[in-house]
Amino acid sequence: MDNQNNEVIIGLEVHIQLTNLKTKLFCSCSNDYRGTEANSHVCPICIGLPGSLPVVNKKAIEFATRLAIALNCKINHQFWFFRKQYFYVDLAKGFQISQYNKAGGKAFADGGQITIKLNSQKKDIILNRIHLEEDPARLVHKGSIATSPYTLVDYNRSGVCLIEIVTEPVLASPEEAREFLKQIKSIIQYSGISNLDLEGSVRVDANISIRGHERSEVKNINSFREVERALRHENIRQKNLLKRGKTLIQETRHWDDKRRITISLRTKEFEADYRYFPEQDLVPIEINDIFIQKVKDKLPEMPNERSRRFQRDYNLSEFDSDNLVLDKDIADFYEDGVNSDASFGPNEYKQYCNWLMNDIYRWLNEKNKIIKDTKLHPHQIVDLIRYVNEGNITTKIAKTLINDMMGGFSISEILEKKGKKRVSDDILLKNLSFEVIEENPKIIKDCCENPKAIEALIGRVMTKTKGQADPHITRNIIIDILKEKGIIN
Ligand SMILES: [Zn+2]
Repeated sequence: MDNQNNEVIIGLEVHIQLTNLKTKLFCSCSNDYRGTEANSHVCPICIGLPGSLPVVNKKAIEFATRLAIALNCKINHQFWFFRKQYFYVDLAKGFQISQYNKAGGKAFADGGQITIKLNSQKKDIILNRIHLEEDPARLVHKGSIATSPYTLVDYNRSGVCLIEIVTEPVLASPEEAREFLKQIKSIIQYSGISNLDLEGSVRVDANISIRGHERSEVKNINSFREVERALRHENIRQKNLLKRGKTLIQETRHWDDKRRITISLRTKEFEADYRYFPEQDLVPIEINDIFIQKVKDKLPEMPNERSRRFQRDYNLSEFDSDNLVLDKDIADFYEDGVNSDASFGPNEYKQYCNWLMNDIYRWLNEKNKIIKDTKLHPHQIVDLIRYVNEGNITTKIAKTLINDMMGGFSISEILEKKGKKRVSDDILLKNLSFEVIEENPKIIKDCCENPKAIEALIGRVMTKTKGQADPHITRNIIIDILKEKGIIN
């Protein structure tokens, strides 16, 4: 009963910049505003000067078509753009050119789905629609939005192409939302339409409610990682209010990622407030089956197809394959590696997968890096597997080589370096042992009668090396010297 009362309902609106486009959605300004001087990539169209006329970027239509096919959506053959009216400093025109699926309007594509896996259960997350729209300008705050004394506006982002993916309210937990976004990120990467590792390329609005109660819309969550956090917080906040006998109200809340709380922005906002109407400055967009087929024919292999192929070609389990293909760069790296050695078979395919998904992945995570940022070459892991399988090094030793491997060093280089270090360590230990023997004639005398006195000498060497010396090696060195000197037999 209690469980049913607390049933969570989540719907997401995921806004993604198509960062792989060269120009903005309706003008020829550069789509890449990152690291540029503020307000240097603007023209009369994207700052909405009177008399300027927008023209649709054809490549943006192609990119949206790619995504619609990858997500199994039904593409609409004809649609108009709409004006979404609102007044805010990030919108010089006073309206945003978007799409609207009411009042005779249509989205870019309807429906579609993404399959997620959580605790080895599969679930289809049904999409409502995807549509294209322009990004507003970027607002720059000093510190947090709530406490900043001023706001700066950078119109370089104004008119950058966004695609919005809207789910049905079918996600049942913050964890499901996380898994859904993981899959979205992967599909976008494989479609080649955007690089979601770029800061600011993603914004998520999340509707969240407890069944039978009003919902909140948490706005502008600026990274996929923050979504789960924000949803968790909002869910707890709603539950706590209900526990205290309060009524939940429909409201828009802001996720403050510094304080990690949601803050009420406004209550009661309805679509009618935006007074949507068709954008008369643009002709209707027509998309025919020939165009869709052309895009489909050129569509790269998607993660789910690739996972099936990995299971077939490399004899990997579904679990391993799904994990391996999630990041296209990792999957490409894997294929480069295992295909570079003709003697590799199922055993080595699995070993390679394990090195990549355990040790390498952990290293990347700890350093917050992607594989492309490192000097690691696919062939280094092939070498590592060979060294282990031929019995030249143990798996335990192999694990200690990972850090040097990430810097691009070959296994033989690393082993040589480690070997030299061992030799130089031995010389140092020998010198220190001689010193200790000379400095402690009384202990040497004791050694003649009681071999246990050697422990005291080892202890002195340990003190001199601040505990760094290997006691086992030190013992052997000292015994050798004492034997040479004829002190012990
Ligand atoms: Zn422009």
